[in-house]
Amino acid sequence: MKNGSTLQLEIEKASTSKIDSVDFDNLVFGNIFTDHMMVCDYKNGEWRNPKVMPYGPLQLEPSARVFHYGQAVFEGMKAFKDDNGEVWLFRPQENFERLNKSSKRLAIPEFPTEVFFEGLEALLNLDREWIKQGFGNSLYIRPFVIATEAGVSASPAKEYKFLIICSPAKSYYSGEVRVVFAEKFSRAANGGVGFAKAAGNYGAQFYPTNLAKEEGFQQIIWTDANTHEYLEEAGTMNIFFRVGDKLLTAPTNDRILDGVTRKSVITLAEENDITVEVRRVSVKEIVDAAKKGDLKEIFGTGTAATINPVKGFGHDGEKFELEDQEDSYAQYFKTKLMEIQYNIAEDKFGWRY
Ligand code: PMP
Repeated sequence: MKNGSTLQLEIEKASTSKIDSVDFDNLVFGNIFTDHMMVCDYKNGEWRNPKVMPYGPLQLEPSARVFHYGQAVFEGMKAFKDDNGEVWLFRPQENFERLNKSSKRLAIPEFPTEVFFEGLEALLNLDREWIKQGFGNSLYIRPFVIATEAGVSASPAKEYKFLIICSPAKSYYSGEVRVVFAEKFSRAANGGVGFAKAAGNYGAQFYPTNLAKEEGFQQIIWTDANTHEYLEEAGTMNIFFRVGDKLLTAPTNDRILDGVTRKSVITLAEENDITVEVRRVSVKEIVDAAKKGDLKEIFGTGTAATINPVKGFGHDGEKFELEDQEDSYAQYFKTKLMEIQYNIAEDKFGWRY
């Protein structure tokens, strides 16, 4: 950025690092944050004063719009370190574009590309010691935007704060995952904000998910809000069903998040001659396939978990268990993706950054 521009990146290094106090072998997902964060403010109609600075609390007016009307969007991406100590991002342009798509839907001003990548690179350079080598280790990166303008009138704010915070990660879900197909609650509606990473989409899932947990399920597979007959996605993952040797997954629409991992899995499947049917997947066909023994696998895809195999599912009071597959697609895609992410395999599709 040009000198003197309101978009010139400022860097303030932390005087000390917390890194020595962190137990990297026993990380709980999203609990510990690195030494620095990026911030940038929107005021008087423009983004200004991007800064990488020590991670710390924010000061906000209690009347800040974000607390009252939920004008907040976020992203989730990861950085990986290869055996030579080089740091890689996986398809970050996709996350950047999706952040702005989410912002647009929430009437939040879009963020400039150059500032995003310049700030992100500066942040990762300062905190690169936090990215550990080895399969499964990564740095989870959380860009987000909140409405900071004071005042509770129910209208879009005129002031916002963009931030990026980073958290060292191992894998997201530990233990086996069983899911229940939603029969009553919905995550998203036609014409709504399901396709956006709007903060409120996640808060709204907690209560039904708690109920599902009481029944012994860790996650909900959301169904279409109108009929509950078609399977859409999980709370933080897109979902794939393997019936026989074919993969089925719902098409993206205004209720479903257009997942980067989902897209990547579809590309890898096609490259490997695995048929992927991107179409509406009905609850009935999956239950029937499970009864006939044709349902081989269910797995979720998402940045946090990469590929998360589902061990069983519940629907209408019935429970189904899935057997482990020797030729597991979930395992295949997980390995393939990680080999690209950790710079082990050739990057045919230009996904590494
Ligand atoms: N669906 C939802 C609702 C999500 O929050 C996420 C996580 N971003 C995903 C799917 C997976 O998307 P991605 O592969 O881009 O992480």
